[in-house]
Amino acid sequence: MLEESKYYFNKAADVLNLPVLGRKILTTPFRMVKVEIVSDADNGQFHHHLGFRVQHDNSRGPMKGGLRYHPSVDADEAEALASLMTWKTAVVNIPYGGAKGGINCDPEQLSEKELHDITRTFVGHIKEVIGPNLDIPAPDMNTNSKIMGWIMDEYSKHYGFSPGVVTGKPLHLFGSDGREEATGRGVTIALEHALKDKDMSWEGLRVAFQGFGNVGSHAAKLMAQNGAKIVAVGDHKGGVSNPEGLDIPALMKYVKENRTVEGFDGGDAFKSDEVLTWDCDVLVPAALGGVLTKENANDVAAKIIVEAANGPTTPEADEIFHKKDVLVIPDILANAGGVTVSYFEWAQNIQQFRWELDRINDELYKTISRAYMSVAKTAKSNNVDFRTAAFVLGIGRVAKATMARTHVSTSRFDEFG
Ligand code: NAD
Repeated sequence: MLEESKYYFNKAADVLNLPVLGRKILTTPFRMVKVEIVSDADNGQFHHHLGFRVQHDNSRGPMKGGLRYHPSVDADEAEALASLMTWKTAVVNIPYGGAKGGINCDPEQLSEKELHDITRTFVGHIKEVIGPNLDIPAPDMNTNSKIMGWIMDEYSKHYGFSPGVVTGKPLHLFGSDGREEATGRGVTIALEHALKDKDMSWEGLRVAFQGFGNVGSHAAKLMAQNGAKIVAVGDHKGGVSNPEGLDIPALMKYVKENRTVEGFDGGDAFKSDEVLTWDCDVLVPAALGGVLTKENANDVAAKIIVEAANGPTTPEADEIFHKKDVLVIPDILANAGGVTVSYFEWAQNIQQFRWELDRINDELYKTISRAYMSVAKTAKSNNVDFRTAAFVLGIGRVAKATMARTHVSTSRFDEFG
């Protein structure tokens, strides 16, 4: 994933005509932390895991990014995802830099008590480098509001009441209305603009999802409410399809109880991976990175791909989609709704004030719409695809902020806003 993120960076850096040293400064992480986590296991033994936090860039504000609990978590993955956060916060123009991290573990093998202990130990080891004005974690794959609440509590034990140290917290613990569904809502807003561009409409639109967790399920619910038919959903265990459209509220209820879509009786079962090449108009990868590759890209039937997941498309697949005239809405635009409402949550925390849901959804709509328009404009004026345009916009803004902190002129980046 690190190679891929550097490839996309360099493609945009070429458009910006960035010198070698500038590229080095913008890609090298500010700080990388790796910690050992030893905690009690339910069977009286110990668990041993490694935790990571990569802080990529803070030229535009405190660093921001999720925590992932997954066996794939390592320093390279965290570095790649942290850099994506830097460009993402710049694309939606919120006052943050980028970070990412997590714990290399398999949460399916851990009890809630074990997860709780591991989380608190991790916070104990990284507490000096996170904080409301320094680095603010948030939920990502296999982490949720409950875990964010534990993080706030553990950090506050050391530094006093600090709700702004983490976002995505429970509503009754200084979380924000609308945060839970924010990423899925942002994905839906980005698709709404793409549909207009492509002269397509929601009514009867056939959408397939890989992943039905926080992001996938909320995006599916909102798209179905807009008139789309969610024809197939695949997850880590299996898939379920219905050409008439799956009943999304019923599927959400089923997944809450069973932690998978497998076995849902409102459709036909299929092998999970097949969802990527499903006969549909729109494909929403909302699970892991690196799933759309040169092996399957030619078989993708969708006309629009909305990257709800981080890094789902390899450069070779991206090239194939470009040739096939498939519109790819890149992750750093499509899934930026989560970090945007995290920003609103943090703003409420430091103001000690609560915003109404309508205000949050309205501001989110405006933020994603503005970002979409800016990316579309940059794509047109530079004659590049949407991903390159989003990187150009994000990198240009970060480069300007970095240079504005020095005596070097920023004028060469003026056209990138
Ligand atoms: P989640 O843990 O809530 O859900 C993950 C989903 O992916 C589940 O449905 C799971 O079954 C599925 N999955 C896991 N492994 C799979 C596999 N091998 N094949 C098919 N499906 C698989 O996670 P989430 O928060 O919904 O995050 C999903 C993606 O969205 C990640 O790439 C994450 O980085 C990205 N993202 C999340 C947020 C957020 O606010 N949660 C924000 C931006 C981006």
